[in-house]
Amino acid sequence: MAQPRRFVGVLMSRFGTRDASTLVVAEHSESKGTLSPSTLCTITAAGQLQNPVTVLVAGGKGINAVAQQAAQVPGVSKVLVAEHAAYEKGIAENLSQAVVATHKAGDYSHILAPSSMHSKNYVPRVAALLDSQPITDVIAIKDQATFVRPMYAGNAIATVTTSEPLKILTVRTTAFEKAPSTGGSAATEVAPAVAKPEAGLSAFLSESVSQSARPELSSARVVISGGRGLKTKEHFQMLEALADKLKGAVGASRAAVDEFHMPNELQVGQTGKVVAPDLYLAVGISGAIQHLSGMKDSKVIVAINKDKEAPIFQVADYGLVADLFKAVPELTDKV
Ligand code: FAD
Repeated sequence: MAQPRRFVGVLMSRFGTRDASTLVVAEHSESKGTLSPSTLCTITAAGQLQNPVTVLVAGGKGINAVAQQAAQVPGVSKVLVAEHAAYEKGIAENLSQAVVATHKAGDYSHILAPSSMHSKNYVPRVAALLDSQPITDVIAIKDQATFVRPMYAGNAIATVTTSEPLKILTVRTTAFEKAPSTGGSAATEVAPAVAKPEAGLSAFLSESVSQSARPELSSARVVISGGRGLKTKEHFQMLEALADKLKGAVGASRAAVDEFHMPNELQVGQTGKVVAPDLYLAVGISGAIQHLSGMKDSKVIVAINKDKEAPIFQVADYGLVADLFKAVPELTDKV
């Protein structure tokens, strides 16, 4: 008796006869008690699927404050709160269990998460546990099963149709506007329980968080990035002075990071952060494709480079062929 029933269940699921519904896994800053802007962008993407949107907020004590913020986002119909010490530091092995348990209870058709270093850690685990191939870095949603994503460091744009009954997506947040943070009134419920939230596979030991009064690189309206052309760590202070005046963040190319001029978390590009600020100023950066893939969606791109053939000028809206050691202090004075 049991076997035929299971077979029918699989068939129904494969052919999409169940109701479509979307689960968004929230990212948040637990120390600040805030929902991240990337989650708001992911909720916008979820809205384009036109299914009811449930948001899962998992964290330690105090996570309810974040859940309340998620409940106020228009378009969210339900917020599920998974509060447990095991979820406090976003340990991938523990968080993936919370996502899997929530999916098993809700049978969602889509699971969405912001594309980030954090989701790169837990989303593959969720996908493996639920036996579905994830589609990462989605930049546009065509329909329930068709998604657009960059390939080859952004040199090609692929339109992908999936036949997976459960679609697991990570969303490139620079491609979707932030959903408004107020105006909604979603119900808040306790998330389905996990038998053993602490998977026991990894433990949080410590973290070293760099403190900066500047805006966060991924969400800053102005980003000033420096490359190998700056030559030394000390010369990055020139960019910091300009960033202070423009209330912007400072970024770097991989070459500058590899030479220890800037910390790893400030790298922009394929293997760094993806940014799309209103203004991106590239100083002493040649414009390799791996760098461009992290910033070419910026609204206005300005480049300063002494080599007029530098590829960065091909994507720049404004280009200045000049020695950066003269041009940057002059610009800072004039701002
Ligand atoms: P360079 O290419 O050396 O360019 C320095 C520029 O400074 C030159 O154009 C030069 O004309 C200019 N310059 C020098 N002196 C002056 C001056 N006085 N005034 C004005 N201009 C001056 N790179 C990234 O940035 N981000 C990534 O995420 C990334 N991921 C990668 C992933 C892979 C798998 C690989 C293979 C590479 C990746 N790279 C990445 C590296 C990338 O290919 C380039 O090597 C790197 O971006 C070059 O950095 P740059 O432009 O600072 O240095």
